[in-house]
Formats: sequence, structure tokens, C-alpha cells
Amino acid sequence: MPAAIRRPSVSVQVAQVTVGGASPIRVQSMTNTDTADIDATVAQVKSLTLAGSELVRVTVNEKNAAAAVPRIRERLDALGIDVPLVGDFHFNGHKLLKEEPACAQALAKLRINPGNVGRGAKRDTQFAEMIEIACRYQKPVRIGVNWGSLDQDLLTRMMDDNSARTTPLDAMDIVREATVVSALNSASLAESLGLRHDQIILSAKVSGVQDLVSIYQNLAGRCDYPLHLGLTEAGMGSKGIVASSAAMAILLQQGIGDTIRVSLTPDPGGDRTREVIVAQELLQTIGLRAFTPMVVACPGCGRTTSTTFQELAQQIQNHIRERMPAWRARHQGVEDMTVAVMGCVVNGPGESKHANIGISLPGTGERPIAPVYEDGIKTVTLKGEHIAEEFQALMEAYIERRYARQETAP
Ligand code: SF4
Repeated sequence: MPAAIRRPSVSVQVAQVTVGGASPIRVQSMTNTDTADIDATVAQVKSLTLAGSELVRVTVNEKNAAAAVPRIRERLDALGIDVPLVGDFHFNGHKLLKEEPACAQALAKLRINPGNVGRGAKRDTQFAEMIEIACRYQKPVRIGVNWGSLDQDLLTRMMDDNSARTTPLDAMDIVREATVVSALNSASLAESLGLRHDQIILSAKVSGVQDLVSIYQNLAGRCDYPLHLGLTEAGMGSKGIVASSAAMAILLQQGIGDTIRVSLTPDPGGDRTREVIVAQELLQTIGLRAFTPMVVACPGCGRTTSTTFQELAQQIQNHIRERMPAWRARHQGVEDMTVAVMGCVVNGPGESKHANIGISLPGTGERPIAPVYEDGIKTVTLKGEHIAEEFQALMEAYIERRYARQETAP
């Protein structure tokens, strides 16, 4: 399937990372630590970055959090982690940014939710104060509408106008339109206040798949700002992953979306980096970007009654994730590699031949041997207790041969 053609958008520079235009679709994430807890936040930004997050957002909800941001930036710089930090502001952002100018300076981008900057007359004043700060420090802004906090004044006005029509539209159509209008109106207000067109990224997040698709299609047709894509409140576990993937895959395939975040509710004590890995896998399985070699594994069935096959697939997947930072630094193009781990002779040899390197394990009742294929040709047959280790060694040797070694600076 050909990769989607991207909708044309202007490019926005977020520190050293370009979002939109011809740049790759960026993966971003958000911390869930207390930003005022500098140690915990630095540690989480570091792990999100190592997992591949290209931008990391932190909440800036009170004075201690705002004061911590420049210190977090310094600590990350000292660790050699230059990932752009994005500040997430609601309700009091205008105040915090004025009181803690070093916070504005340290951030690479501000996220402003137009539904949460104040009501009535205060709304435009406080929005203007934040935009003025963004202009002063030359920071791009994401105008991030969320229908859980939609601008109520705007929505009421639009609902009233709708009621006055001869044939009123469905109320949900008005909510969707208000979500889009809130983003577009706020962007033009920001530009009238001095923010450049190429300093604005838009998002309009909702929690329903069909609503997200409809809203982003509408938004994409009405502006050329880069779009930050994500399903808000996607949920936990497989539901969150499926809902986010279903919604974003449709839009990405239509060329809509310049940066994505998968908003997963982590399991208690779960790893925050999961949202980064899911976002990468989403982009890679659609064919829009490659991050890490993909493991093709069959689901197993009655022909694989032992757990050997599942264990091997898991081991290979873990090995690839662990080794990827070193491979990426040394071997150009290794992220495009495919590895097949198959459970029996039915589809094993065929699928293994399609992969760069593949192994077909013995199913129940088959001879206890595992043929290995490299570039479609059977090269060796493994057997015995150490198949996993031997296959990993073959994979390492394959990468050394197949992917050009990059010279590292002395
Ligand atoms: S390859 Fe073999 S073990 Fe895997 S699903 Fe197919 S028949 Fe079952």
C-alpha cells in the first residue's frame, strides 16, 4: 500500500525539531509526574526521550511547577538530552508566565487551551497576555482545543444561533463545529496579536473515534497550520490503543496529522513510555515512518502447544528494543528491517522468506529443528536448548553485513 500523501502544511520550528511541512510526523508524549518534583520529572523526560519521544510536554499548573521548568531544562541539558519541552497551561498560564519568565524562556513551545484561559471579558485579555509572552520569547504555540473544556461562551452563542434557524442542525454537529471554530478563531486572534502564522500548531481533541475523524477532516480543509493529532481520554490498555489507532490511522492515511500523541491511561505503576512505543508502532505499521525493526510473529494455534514460540518472539522483541540505540548509531537503515518469528511449518518458511531474517520453529509433532532464512534463502537450521541466543547472534551478524556501518566521530 502506498504511504499516504501528507496534506500541505506550513512548518513550525519547535527548538531544533521541525513540525509540519515536509518533516516526518513527530511523536510526542507527556509526563505524569509532579513538575515541581524535578528529579522525578527529569527521570521521566529522559525515559520518554530514550524511548523516542521527539517532544515532551509537562504540566505547568502552579508556581512551583513553573519555577521548576528552567531547572529541569538545565538538568536535561547537562545529561545531553536536548528534547524540546512543551508547557501545558490552563486557567493561570498568563499569571505563571508573567511571574516566572525563566519558565517561558526554558520552554520550546506553549500549549494554550482556549477553553481554559478565562471566561467573558477576561478570556481575550488573558489569551492576549500569553500570546504576548510567546511573541516576546519567540516561542511557537499549540492552540489545543479539547471538547471537555470547550469555550462555553462560543458554544452557547453557536447553539443560540442554531436554535434560531428554521431547520436547526443536530446539537452534536454544533459541538463539533464549535470545536473547529474555537481553534481557528483563536489562531487568527493570536496572529492579530503578533504571533507568526508559522508559530502556530492546532489540535482539536475529542474522545470519540468518529468525532475525531470528522473534526480533523473539517479542520484540515480549513487551514494549513500543522495539526497535532490525538484522541483525548483514549482510555486504558487495549481499548486506549485500539481507539487511538482506529481514529488516527484513518486520518493519517488521508494525510492529516503532523505530530501525534497517544494518550493512554497507564496501568497502576505502568511504564509511561508505552504511549511512545504505541505511537511509533502506529506510524510504522501504516508505513509512514520507521523506528525499529518490526517483528512479524504468527498468533500461534493448536500446532504450537508449548510456550517456546511465544517466549522466543518476546525475547527477540526485547532484544531488538534493547539493542536499537546502538544499532541506530552504527547501522543506517536498520529500522527498516523485518524479523519473522513463526510457530510452525504451515506459514513459517513462507513468512520467514519474506522477512529480512526469519525463523520457523517446530510445531507440535514436527522435527525439533528451526530453519533460519536470510533474504529469502535458508541459511542454517538451529536445534537444541539455545535457539534464542543463536538466532540473536545470527541477527547481529546479519545487521553487520547488511546495513552500512556509519563512522562515528573520534
Ligand atoms: S504458522 Fe503455524 S503455529 Fe503459527 S498460526 Fe500458522 S499454523 Fe499456527
